[in-house]
Amino acid sequence: MLLLTPGPTPVPEDIRIAMAGETLHHRTPEFEEIFSKTRELLKELFGMPEVLMLASSGTGAMEACVTNLCKSKALVINAGKFGERFGKICEAYNKEYKELKYDWDTPASTKEVIQTIEEDESIDAIFIQICESAGGLRHPVEEIASRVKEIRPEIMVIADGVTAVGVEKIDCSNIDALISGSQKALMLPPGLSLVGLSSNAIETIENGGFGYYLNLKSELKKQRANTTAYTAATTLIIGLKAMLEKMREIGFEKLYEETKKSSDATKEALKALGLKIFPKTPARAMSAVYDEDAPKIRKILKTKYEVNIAGGQEHVKNTLFRINHMGLVKPYELSWTLNAIELALDELGRRAYDGTANAIFTKEITK
Ligand SMILES: *Cc1c(COP(=O)(O)O)cnc(C)c1O
Repeated sequence: MLLLTPGPTPVPEDIRIAMAGETLHHRTPEFEEIFSKTRELLKELFGMPEVLMLASSGTGAMEACVTNLCKSKALVINAGKFGERFGKICEAYNKEYKELKYDWDTPASTKEVIQTIEEDESIDAIFIQICESAGGLRHPVEEIASRVKEIRPEIMVIADGVTAVGVEKIDCSNIDALISGSQKALMLPPGLSLVGLSSNAIETIENGGFGYYLNLKSELKKQRANTTAYTAATTLIIGLKAMLEKMREIGFEKLYEETKKSSDATKEALKALGLKIFPKTPARAMSAVYDEDAPKIRKILKTKYEVNIAGGQEHVKNTLFRINHMGLVKPYELSWTLNAIELALDELGRRAYDGTANAIFTKEITK
């Protein structure tokens, strides 16, 4: 079965093999050497002075950023399940927060964010997704971050980049914390989250720290010495090192370019079939299509063509399907998938099959 869901993504064979060695003890020079190399590679990928590895899924890093980087009041951008989650984390900690809510296809408005922070002096942290995976939506994070810093440089800008880090080059000059997770663009099994930190965020954490397991102050201290506060996710970190070396060998820029090409070509092919791309500002990480037949199309793909794509959630549960572009997706895998979608549309009596999807995809991908 071809796994083309926007997380989890398939783990390449050489990375699975890299993780198949004997168990290493985490308090040994051998593991510390691996940890140190992984840290350096992560700093290069993130383009930030510090990156922490946490043994948790992506949500653990989201929670750590809420508790460690926001002292008085949060501003949360909610245009989907993941934006909503930041608000729920605030609620769980009785932390005051203001939410700017958008339809799942609509990007946050920089003007509204600025108005909100101008009206409320107590806001000291902003939480936003780079790609809101619920609808495959790209928020204008860089623009928001830059405007916020012009007005209130002390506000912490926390960007959830779980479906953006490794997908595209992210300008971190105005971002204080950049979150990622193992099972999306980093093509690893789930269980590891990452937080890139700016020098401002480092200072805030050094002078603060909150909680026990997800205390970034104790992690920062330990990880700078190439170890972790608690048992490290050794196998995942060994896999991460191998993956980052692989990505570096391909070239980060080349990987971003190829992801963009795949993403753009897929969207063009889908549009050529008369399908509707859901978000107003689509992210590169995935192609999200709004369609009343989404569940039928997904079922045909799974049962007849051995392709697993994702559906939607909540109010778009039965009207959305999402195709992954994160990681090392081969053009021939997308080509097969798009052809299968065209065949499914024919089977549903929507459109006679004439090879349009592949004609357009091939034209766009070889440009
Ligand atoms: C997957 C994802 C997360 C993390 O979810 P976990 O299930 O905790 O790994 C966070 N943000 C976004 C945008 C995601 O797509």
